[in-house]
Amino acid sequence: MKNLFLFVLSLLFILFFGCSSSQKSIKGLSYDPPGSVITTDKEIEQQHKRTISFSLTKVFVSNEFDGGKLNDFYKINDTLYAAEMYAENAPINNSAWFSFKLWSPIKQNIHLVLKYKDGSHRYIPKLSYDGTAWQIIDSSNYFVDTTNNTATVKLHVGLDTIWFSAQELFTSNMYYKWIDELSKKQFVKKEKIGNSALGKPLVKIEISETENPKGLVYIIGRQHPPEVTGAFALKHFVEAIAGDSKLAEEFRKKFKTIVIPLVNPDGVDMGHWRHNSNGVDLNRDWVNFNQRETKIVKESLLKIKEEDNVPVLFCIDFHSTQKDVFYVTSKDLTKEDDEIYNQTMIWFEKIREKNPDYFVNIDTSLNNPNSSTSDSWMYNTFNCPALTYELGDETERESIKQTSSSAAEALMELLLEKVKR
Ligand SMILES: [Zn+2]
Repeated sequence: MKNLFLFVLSLLFILFFGCSSSQKSIKGLSYDPPGSVITTDKEIEQQHKRTISFSLTKVFVSNEFDGGKLNDFYKINDTLYAAEMYAENAPINNSAWFSFKLWSPIKQNIHLVLKYKDGSHRYIPKLSYDGTAWQIIDSSNYFVDTTNNTATVKLHVGLDTIWFSAQELFTSNMYYKWIDELSKKQFVKKEKIGNSALGKPLVKIEISETENPKGLVYIIGRQHPPEVTGAFALKHFVEAIAGDSKLAEEFRKKFKTIVIPLVNPDGVDMGHWRHNSNGVDLNRDWVNFNQRETKIVKESLLKIKEEDNVPVLFCIDFHSTQKDVFYVTSKDLTKEDDEIYNQTMIWFEKIREKNPDYFVNIDTSLNNPNSSTSDSWMYNTFNCPALTYELGDETERESIKQTSSSAAEALMELLLEKVKR
């Protein structure tokens, strides 16, 4: 009996500590299933845009809006429905996006099972009554079934339409509006650098108050459609650089910042999980450049560098995963006299100083400069710090604002100190 007790105890010990230590090594869901890194055009499964209605229960559901994702919706019984979402193609990294609207002339509570093809439930549902103000679903109305990779939610539907979405909607039109608003400032210029495969504008923002910048900062984002928290971080980061602070003004008088905030507008508006309209992961196309969007962004960044003929000093690509993390690209992260390494570490130290309660999570495990991601290409091409800045899927939105705008301040201070030296 005592032996059995000890056995169970040691089993629990192994389970507990075994799990917690393996937890640390989990790099989120950003692994690449075999075949997902081939970047020539692939077939995608088109989603039918439609409104479905149930004549007896008077429930209506629709995916007829940008960012919408709902492949099938059916009734299991009078209060239980199933919503099915299919990845645009497979193999694919699991970023199981869903987004649809519901309403009913009869006020009623319904249950919804969220099911996925080629993926499993990942995002905590967000609700909105106008498509712009969002709240996270109440935990008492949300159950995840990890065995079946599904989730069940309870919703109160009525005449007021409910937007029900994996994350807040941040569609191409919302970007274009934000860019228009930002470019009202006289030191912000916008320019269309080309069109996506489906003809949506790829837009570049230039922020500077000098004709002779001492260097360039490159910022890109939204290669992966569901990565909305990364998009929020990019927005706050850029707004800090274009902001009213003395620091920002001083920075703009010395440097030029180039932002391409939306690299994959087609994927975003199509409600894709990961890929562009050609079924390809754009952030694996930075060696072969098979896709229109990556080619256009690359050429634009090279052209600016050539025209201004000054060094690129820092590159950041914004993404999302389970938790906030900075992926650092470098040839040798242990080399203490490496200027690129040192610059990056000073930036992190400054972010730490500004956010004493925030854990600056640095991951150097993916630092292979030969990978086909944008950060590797930028690192190799411009010989400067090039990072992937990831925000957690469920990181508090206020925390994203705080850390990303202070990360921008930290970068401005760092580069200003560099030119003063
Ligand atoms: Zn990503």
